[in-house]
Amino acid sequence: MNNQDLKGKVQTVTGVIEPKKLGPTLMHEHILWDVTRPEVVSEAKNKNLQEVTITLQNVWEINRRSILDYGNQSNHRYSVALEELSLLRAACANAVIVDLTNFGIQPDPLGLRYLSEGTGVPIIQGAGYYVDEYIPEDLKASTVDQLTEEIISQVRTGCWNTDVCAGIIGEIGCMWPLRPFERKALQAAALAQQETGASINVHPGRHREAPFEIVDIIQSSGGDVNRLVMSHIDRTFADLDDALKLAATGCILEYDFFGIETSYYWFNDTDLPTDYMRLAYIRSLIERGHGRQVVVSHDICTKTRLSSFGGHGYRHIFQNVVPLMERKGFSKGEIHMIIEDNPRSLLTFV
Ligand SMILES: [Zn+2]
Repeated sequence: MNNQDLKGKVQTVTGVIEPKKLGPTLMHEHILWDVTRPEVVSEAKNKNLQEVTITLQNVWEINRRSILDYGNQSNHRYSVALEELSLLRAACANAVIVDLTNFGIQPDPLGLRYLSEGTGVPIIQGAGYYVDEYIPEDLKASTVDQLTEEIISQVRTGCWNTDVCAGIIGEIGCMWPLRPFERKALQAAALAQQETGASINVHPGRHREAPFEIVDIIQSSGGDVNRLVMSHIDRTFADLDDALKLAATGCILEYDFFGIETSYYWFNDTDLPTDYMRLAYIRSLIERGHGRQVVVSHDICTKTRLSSFGGHGYRHIFQNVVPLMERKGFSKGEIHMIIEDNPRSLLTFV
């Protein structure tokens, strides 16, 4: 697929479509994935652990600690994913999902195509590389040019030895401090963006300065900051000032922990906002003229956040958050802008 063919279009796992076909869109999810941390994988191997069995008795605790239990951080079962997407469709008939599962966290592009065909939910596959600790040592020696070529080919000819093409670059994984491989992956994403016209999504390191460093790298590599989505604003910025400062760079702010209603953050002692607080941040961004720079999602990456295991599932934003936005005084136009218009312009190749 050359650039002329993609310009002005959206690329889903089942092919290229017109942007007007996109309905309300979840910009950052994982449908088939494995984000189990390398130390949990090696512990499981050493101790010969089986995946945890989730029950009514243990689901609250497993969900709260989120990343500790072997087996909670992955799903590759199509039957579970089909059920979850059907629930999404029942709540929002024309919903769209962006699956940012990329290299390092076991993407399954053909699986996504199968699920999309089976449920009618349009799915967009992300390209590129997750954080350094998930990347094999030999790959870390790649040059920026090699990484760029690979990302371009994922958009143009297919991802990871399949013919399923990516419709967005990301989530490009970053830790704090930024690792050398991650810097190269960011530079490659910016170069591939210039070749393909795709937008970029970045998972920043857990530090309030991380998003600004990333914006600098993307910019100095010639990337388009207006088509750069910064994920996980919820856990990266503890106050509005940082969000406003990031918005001033032109980049897109993604509040993608919707449905996580606990102040406890399993990685460090950051206080997480509730859905109410997320909406208050978004309200403030709209009032300061940054409404075009906000997108939302759940970033589901544990079983316990799926409906099948007692969680809120992919439908939560449409079923619960949109009505909450209406009650909190968001206009129809503002809601439409955040859940539909902003994603559409990001997913349309330029
Ligand atoms: Zn993610």
